Amino acid sequence: MRDTQSILGINFDVVNEKEALEKLIGFINEDSKLKKVYTPNPEIVMLAQDDKDLYRILEEADLVLADGIGVIIASKIKGLKLKDRVTGVDTMDKLLGYCGQYSKSIFIFGGKPGIAKIACGNIEKKYKGIKIAGYNHGYIKDKNEEDALIDKINHTKPDVLFICLGAPRQEKWIDKNKDRLNCSIAMGVGGSVDVYAGVVKRAPVVFQNLGLEWFYRLVKEPWRFKRMLILPKFLIKFIVNK
Ligand code: UDP
Repeated sequence: MRDTQSILGINFDVVNEKEALEKLIGFINEDSKLKKVYTPNPEIVMLAQDDKDLYRILEEADLVLADGIGVIIASKIKGLKLKDRVTGVDTMDKLLGYCGQYSKSIFIFGGKPGIAKIACGNIEKKYKGIKIAGYNHGYIKDKNEEDALIDKINHTKPDVLFICLGAPRQEKWIDKNKDRLNCSIAMGVGGSVDVYAGVVKRAPVVFQNLGLEWFYRLVKEPWRFKRMLILPKFLIKFIVNK
C-alpha cells in the first residue's frame, strides 16, 4: 500500500530518498508490469489543475516524488505528511549506483542529438558494472520514428528507462507508450541527461541543501523567470484550498 499525501489533488508518496530507492529496487526485482515514476514540481501540479489528461496520468503513477522545494513548503505550511524533498536527479543518481552494483541495465531517451550518448559514457565510467542498454535523442519527428524507438528499447529490455523530455512531455510520452514498453521502470527525469552529459551544471551543494537550487537556476537561466512565477500562485491556491 502506498502512503501518499495529496497536494492540490496530486498524490505524492510520503518517502525520503532512502525509501524512494527501496521502492525503485522493488520495482526492478518484482516480476510485474511497467512501473511509472514521476517527479512533479509546483509548475506541473498547477498545470495538472487544468489539464485533465495530465491529472489522470499522475493519478495512475506507481511512484510520485516531491521534486521542487515548493511542494515541501506547501506541505509544511499545513502540517501535512510530506517532509522530505526527493529530487529526480538525486534519485536517479542513487538508482544508477544500485544498477552499477547489481549489473542492471538502463536506457536514456531524451536530450538534444548526441547528448544522451555522452551522458551514458559518463554514467558507465562513474557507475562501474552498469549496463547501458541504449540511448536516443528526444526529438522524435513522427510515428515511424517512435515505433522504431520502441522496438530499440524493447529489444534491449532495460531494467530502467529514463525519459528526459521535460515535463509534461515526458509524462505524456510514458502514458502513451506504457502498454508497449518492455522494461521494469519508466521514469521521467527532465533535464538530467544534460547534467550527466556535463552540459548543465547542478547548483553548488550549499544551494541544494538550502533548497535554493531554483534560485541558482534562475540566475543562470533568467528566461525561466516567467515559468517560476507559478510558485507563488501555487502556494496561494494551496493555502486558500480547503
Ligand atoms: N527535450 C527533448 N525533446 C523535446 C523537448 C525537450 O528531448 O522535444 C529535452 C531537452 O533537450 C532537455 C530536456 O528535454 O534536455 C528538458 O529539460 P528541462 O530542464 O527543460 O526540463 P525540466 O527538468 O525543467 O522539466
